[in-house]
Formats: sequence, structure tokens, C-alpha cells
Amino acid sequence: MKPMPPHPTPASPVPSDEEDDLLPLLDDEPLPTRVGGLDTRTPWLILVVDDDEDVHQATELALRGLSIEGRPLHLLHAHSRAEALALLAAHEDLAVMLLDVVMESDDAGLQLVREARTALQRESLRIILRTGQPGYAPELDTIRDYDINDYRTKSELTRVRLFTSLTTALRAYRQMCAHEQTRRGLEMVVRASTDLSRLHGMHLFARGVVKQLCALLGIAPEGLICAQAGLQHQDDPARVIAAAGQYGDLIQRPLSDLGVPHVQQALQRCLEEQRNHFDHGVTLYFATSDGRGLAAYIDHHEPLAPLDQHLLEVFCSSMSAGFENVLLYGRLVDQAYVDPLLHIPNLNQFLKHLSALHMPDTERYLAVVDIDGFASINDMLGHGFGDAMLRAVSQRLTSSLGEPCVVARVSADVFGVLGPKGLVDAEPLQALFKTPFHVQSQTVRLSATMGLVRLDQPDLVGPELLKDAHLALKRAKGLQRGSVCYFSAEMGQDARTRMQLLDSLRAATGSSQLFTVYQPKVCLHTGRVLGLEALLRWRKPDGEMVPPDRFIPLAEQAGLMAVLGTFVLHSACSQLRRLHEAGHRTLSMAINVSQAQLREPDFIPLLADTLNETGVQPASVELEVTESMAADDLGLMRQRLGEIGALGLTAAIDDFGTGFSSLSVLRHLKADRLKIDRAFVAEIEQDSRIARMVVNLGHSLGMTVVAEGVETASQRGMLLELGCDEGQGWLFARPMDEPALLAWLATHPA
Ligand code: C2E
Ligand code: CA
Ligand code: CA
Repeated sequence: MKPMPPHPTPASPVPSDEEDDLLPLLDDEPLPTRVGGLDTRTPWLILVVDDDEDVHQATELALRGLSIEGRPLHLLHAHSRAEALALLAAHEDLAVMLLDVVMESDDAGLQLVREARTALQRESLRIILRTGQPGYAPELDTIRDYDINDYRTKSELTRVRLFTSLTTALRAYRQMCAHEQTRRGLEMVVRASTDLSRLHGMHLFARGVVKQLCALLGIAPEGLICAQAGLQHQDDPARVIAAAGQYGDLIQRPLSDLGVPHVQQALQRCLEEQRNHFDHGVTLYFATSDGRGLAAYIDHHEPLAPLDQHLLEVFCSSMSAGFENVLLYGRLVDQAYVDPLLHIPNLNQFLKHLSALHMPDTERYLAVVDIDGFASINDMLGHGFGDAMLRAVSQRLTSSLGEPCVVARVSADVFGVLGPKGLVDAEPLQALFKTPFHVQSQTVRLSATMGLVRLDQPDLVGPELLKDAHLALKRAKGLQRGSVCYFSAEMGQDARTRMQLLDSLRAATGSSQLFTVYQPKVCLHTGRVLGLEALLRWRKPDGEMVPPDRFIPLAEQAGLMAVLGTFVLHSACSQLRRLHEAGHRTLSMAINVSQAQLREPDFIPLLADTLNETGVQPASVELEVTESMAADDLGLMRQRLGEIGALGLTAAIDDFGTGFSSLSVLRHLKADRLKIDRAFVAEIEQDSRIARMVVNLGHSLGMTVVAEGVETASQRGMLLELGCDEGQGWLFARPMDEPALLAWLATHPA
């Protein structure tokens, strides 16, 4: 065991056994050094580990002023294994360790070697062992296992030898570092590709690429990535899609106005030539299969080693695949969140915006904007025209409302708008529709009906907002086209009551709570009964009658109408069959059908089956559809009316005069009867103009005209004067259940 070393002062070195061994270090041979010149570069870090202070000093002296491969040497000193370990851990870039084998223990040096290689994983570190006595030489195995580069007795190490030994070690170190860097670089490329492909969004991905590139080059993240023209749309200019460091605020800027000429030129050249450039900064090209490559510029002006260039090239090709995935993913996201026709956010995206709001929001309003009469325009002028019209509206909304607003398409002809209350409010929004639109070289005047929500009201919930806005829209539609309604808590309450009602209705479906009554229809001239209209009734278990005007729209929304409609169809046809069997053979039966029923793809087969099962003549059944249903989807209505006619049934247009597009729509509909809405009958004594118009219209189109809601004899008189054919109303009879109906029929023969 070697004694603990004395700590001599430099002024009076204590002679020791080993002093002679050190002398060679101090002899004055001329050295092949290059002092100065490139010495400004980072010094090589060399760790001297020895428990003898003299050795430190002698080494310091021997190497003073020398540089190897153009880099100066910087010596660190440790006197024990522990000190050495600490220094190793603190200096990742230690290149060579000059190590005394025997220190506090015989094998302290070898132990340190083991620790450096295994625990600290310093594979590149070169180790030169020095020992005073040849007897302390390590085994050959140890030298090989721990990758010890040189082993010298101290006496062998003259100044020149030390220098050459160090030079060899440093060269080896540099080479190993380069290998290590390649390995790490490649590892990083691989990791980057997998990491980055998880960052699905193009912006995130591109930002990740900037960062990884900078890490590869070992520089601070200073750079930007640019997407080539037409990334999203073919005619988009090239834009910056990610940027870091000093270029951070260039994001989204078109390449043509970056304001940093050298960067702009570099990116443009790279995109044009589709290749990497390593002069004037690093500019990398990422190819994608659709030819819309990307260019990345990095502010790195140091010359790049061939190894680095090679790494970057590997990185680029690997990243190109990544970009490609991101583009693909982007397109998928687009499909999920962007309206394909209008290229604005779709419902999903809009709901995300709403969910992200912090409620209450005192700054913003939400609006849903419904284009009036869109469906009929679409039907009459064709889908191409309809699309162009939507585009025109979308463009006007987005360009006029601008950046602070989100404009989305939330359904076919309804836009959602979220933005500052100064912009998103009744007046400014309506003002946008004052100027006509230019659609396919035609000038079109459009109006929109809107529902608005003030987001500062209490109790609003982000994801529910769109429903609230639609409630307000519905209210507005109930007024007149072009009107605006604000959502109120009372509407919300309404909605809740309706939900409860809907629950009860679901429970009532299929039970005796729901039943059908029948109202006679008479000839206005003779007063004779011609037929009946089946009307659905709901009596709740507590006896309360819920009017069909309330529960039928609800059932439509909740998808219950198909079931209810089938029930009415069946009851009415069976009733008619029984009436016919009871001798009332001339009676016909009118049955109301709703939009939801008509939309059912198997409505017509169901109708045919019902007629078959109940055994009634198709000609004695009439289906009533409303004019507003035709306005919603004229195409479907025309088709269904054709099919209904082909089955041998007749059809009536109900509630005529309450819709918007009366005349134009009517011309396209093949129906046998026209029913004047009871509102016009009620006002007939004050103003008979609409009733007269409807009668004339019906007759000129070859239809029979029926007046609904005839309550007084004088109304009947007026209607007769106008030439109206048939009537229905309390004047003649109320809707009745079967027993009441049979009794009524007994006194009112056909
Ligand atoms: P509607 O088809 O226009 O039915 C005529 C409505 O006028 C019925 O109201 C009827 O009771 C009422 N009425 C009849 N005569 C008079 C009168 O002299 N004065 C007044 N003020 N009203 C009269 P009801 O039964 O409440 O039905 C309301 C609406 O509910 C119906 O209007 C129809 O649109 C719908 N509806 C009723 N049953 C069904 C059905 O089975 N299926 C579908 N889809 N809708 C139905
Ligand atoms: Ca009706
Ligand atoms: Ca009606």
C-alpha cells in the first residue's frame, strides 16, 4: 500500500523516489508544436490524476503553451479517485485522462477507469496510465477491457513522449467523438422521426423539426421552416409555417414579404431548386410526393463538417416522410374540421371553439345565421348555383367580419359566427345582407334569419351554446324571414320543459295515451259530409291533453315521428275500413304526414303495406303535406308526391299561404287539394284577399280548394262567394273519437 502523498509547496518541492522519473518531463528537447495561430479554439480538456502534487506541476510545466491539432490544452487536476470522478462527471468533454495507477489504494486508478467506462459511460475518453513502478502494470485483459490507450511508466514519459502520446490520444478521441456523434445523430434522427410523427399538426411538426435540426447542429433554436406554395390550396403563396427564436413572429407570413432578404432568398432558392444548400446558413429541402415540398432555413454560418452535412441529409429524407404523414394527417383533420365546400371551419371545429370559451364571456356574442329560402333556391336553380351562393355568403361573412371572428358552416345553409359583440350583433350582421350578392353573374338579394346569444348571461355552458343559438333562431323563424331573436333564459327553460315533455312522449308511445280523432270535411254548398281528417291526440295519465302543435314538432326533432306517423296511418286506415263496412262507403280519409315520415326511405312501401293490410282503396285515402315542407326540400316532396300518386292515393297541400314561396313551389307540386289555412279563414270577414287568392290559385291549377277552421255561418257564406269547394271546422263538427263520430254520422249522412 502506498503512503498518503505529502502536499509539498511548489516553492520547496520535496524530493521523492519518483523525482527522477519526473525529470524526463522537464528536459528540453525541441518540440513539434504549433503555438499560437489556431489556439483561440476550444482547448482540449486533459485530466491529470495523481496523488503526488509534483506530478501535477511537472505535467503542467511540460505541456505549458503547447497546442495539439490547433487547439490549446487545458489541464484539470485531481488527487484522488473521488476528486477525479467528480471532475469527470462535471466535464462531459474531457478528452484525455493521465492517470496514476496507484493512489490511495493499489488499484484506485484501475477502479477509476472501470467507473469512467461503465458507470459514467465515457467511451470516448482516452486514458493514459502512468505508474511509478513497472510492477503495478495492469493485466493485459484489463487494458483491453477498459480500453486503456497507453500505458507508461513515469520514467518513460519524457516531455516529447508525453506530447506524442497525448497527440495520438487526442486524435483517437476526436475520431471517437465523431463516431459517437454520428451514432447519436442517427439515433436522434430516428427518435426525431418517431417523436415528430406524433406531433400531427403541421405547425407542431415543423416547429419540432426546427428544434431537432438545431439540436443536431448543436446550436440554439434559431431558424424557421417554410411551407411551399399551395400547401392547403393550390393558389396559396408559400408561407412560414413554423419559426423559432428571432424569427418567431414571422409565422404565417407569406414568403414574399418576410422582411429578411437573405432568409427569404435562401428559402426561395431552396424551394425552386429543390435541394439543400449549405452556404449562407443551412437551407434544407423536404420533398413531398405531391411536389409541394418544404424548405427549412437555419441560421448556422459555421462551416459544416462533411459528417454533419451527411447527417442533415439523412435527417431530411427521413423528415420528408414525416412531413408527408403530417400532410396526410392534416388532410384528414381538414376533413374532420373544415367544410369541404367553403374551406371554413365546420360544425365540429365550431363546437370546439365554443367549448374552449371561458363563460361568461363579456366580450363576445354568438350568432347562427340562416339564409332564407335557401332550400328552394337550391332546388329551383340547381345545386351548382346553391353552392356558389353559399360561397358568396361565406366570403362576405369572413371578409367583412375579419380576424376577430370565427365564421363556420354549422349546417347546410346555416353559418355560426362567434366574435366581438360590436361585430356579431343584429344590426351589423343584417347590414351584411343589405348589398346584393353576385352569384354566377347574377345579382341575388338574400336575407338571413338569425339567432343570437349574448355570452355574458349567467348559466350558459360552452358546448350548449349552439343549441341556445338555434333556439333563438327558431324563435326568429317563427316571426318572419329576416328577423333576429336573442336567446333568453326563458327559452332555455322552454327547452327544458320540452325535454321533459319529450321523455313523457317517449313513454306514451305505443300506449293508449295516444289515439286518433276524426274531423269531418263537408261540401260547402250542400253541407254533406265527404270525408274525415285523422288528427292525433295525446292524453297524459293525469288527464291533461297535450295539443299536437306542441308534441308533433317535438316528436319530429326527436325522431319519434316515424313511429307516431305509422300509428296514425294504421288507425286511420282501419277506422276507414270499419266505416266503409258500416255503410259509409263514400267517405274518404285525410291523413297528415310529416317531413320526417316523408324522409323515411321506406315510407312508400310502408304506405302500400298499410293499405294492403287494412284493405282500403288507395283512392279513398288522401295524404296532407304542408307547403313549408316543400320549401325545405322541394326535390324530395316532388318525388314523394309522384310516388303517392302512383300508388293511387290523392294528396293535399295543407296550411297553404303560411309558407314563404307559395306560388313558385305550388307550381312544382302535383296535388289534388289545396287547404286554406285557418288563419286566413279567421280573418276573412275583415280581409278576404288571401283566401280569394288561394281559391283562384287552386282552381287555376285544377285543384279542389278546402277551407279549414270554418267556425261561423258568415265565414261559410264568404267562402262560398269566393268559390271555395269544401270546408272543415267547428261549424260543421269538432274532431271526434270513434263512438262520437258514429253518432254524428248517423245524423249527417253523406
Ligand atoms: P292541421 O292539419 O291544420 O289540422 C287542423 C287543425 O285545426 C286541428 O288542430 C283541428 O283540431 C283544428 N280545427 C279544426 N276545426 C277548427 C275550427 O273550427 N277552429 C279552430 N280554431 N281550429 C279547428 P289539431 O288537431 O290541434 O292539430 C294541429 C295540427 O297538428 C294539425 O294541423 C296538424 O298539422 C298536426 N297534426 C295533428 N294530427 C297529426 C298527425 O296525425 N300527423 C301529423 N303529421 N300532424 C298532425
Ligand atoms: Ca291537416
Ligand atoms: Ca291545416
